[in-house]
Amino acid sequence: GGRVEFKNVYFHYAPEKRILKDVSFTVEAGETLALVGPSGAGKSTIIRLLFRFYDIQDGLICIDGQDLKQLNQNSVRQNIGVVPQDTVLFNDDIRYNVRYGNMSASDDEVEQAARYADIHDRIITFPSQYDTVVGERGLKLSGGEKQRVCIARTILKAPAVILLDEATSALDTETERNIQSSLMKVCQGRTTIIVAHRLSTIIHANVILVLKEGEIVERGTHEHLLVQD
Ligand code: ADP
Ligand code: ADP
Repeated sequence: GGRVEFKNVYFHYAPEKRILKDVSFTVEAGETLALVGPSGAGKSTIIRLLFRFYDIQDGLICIDGQDLKQLNQNSVRQNIGVVPQDTVLFNDDIRYNVRYGNMSASDDEVEQAARYADIHDRIITFPSQYDTVVGERGLKLSGGEKQRVCIARTILKAPAVILLDEATSALDTETERNIQSSLMKVCQGRTTIIVAHRLSTIIHANVILVLKEGEIVERGTHEHLLVQD
């Protein structure tokens, strides 16, 4: 499963200012959709609507034909994994933060997920030193490492749909490349919607939507959009 459908979706934060205008698209199960466009175009808003972070105002959003409006937030989120740009971790050790993806996972499974996301050494080095983990200034965990914790959590959760707000310039190239490969593993075979900033990510998308001022102004494959450029 994991087919995602938006049909004539409108959204506003303030009544007089529309953010999304008549957004319609379909992502088939297991496919990857990339959202691109200038800052403020509404890309994150689409992801947050799908995650039921905001109430759906106008239009239809379905997963596997089920109207999200008919489902409560918890049941929607059971099938969705989010890797946000800025992961906020729980005030607990990394092991717990990974385990949160699936509370009934065994220790082995937790460690395997951490290894997969390349954050395993952190679990061992800092089993429960709170202030090394918490997301406050001066933290010892880098942005990239926090994102990897979130990736490990998502691997453990194994959701049908993954929403990915790709990190921008905060990460160095080496870290970025490592994270990309972890992400590739977790997204394999799952429906993925990614807010993309880099061409390298987009290459792996089945469909790219270009968003401008809340409207889809282009849709196509990588090759198609390059030709148009
Ligand atoms: P993008 O992800 O493409 O940068 P967003 O979806 O974050 O765009 O934002 C789209 C527009 O909605 C922007 O103009 C932004 O300022 C506005 N916006 C985003 N979140 C909120 C909010 N919580 N309240 C009011 N306006 C918001
Ligand atoms: P639950 O309802 O299962 O407790 P949470 O609301 O705590 O789930 O969120 C689950 C995950 O989604 C967390 O990793 C959190 O960081 C992330 N998340 C929550 N809200 C947003 C959002 N608006 N945008 C991106 N990620 C989010």
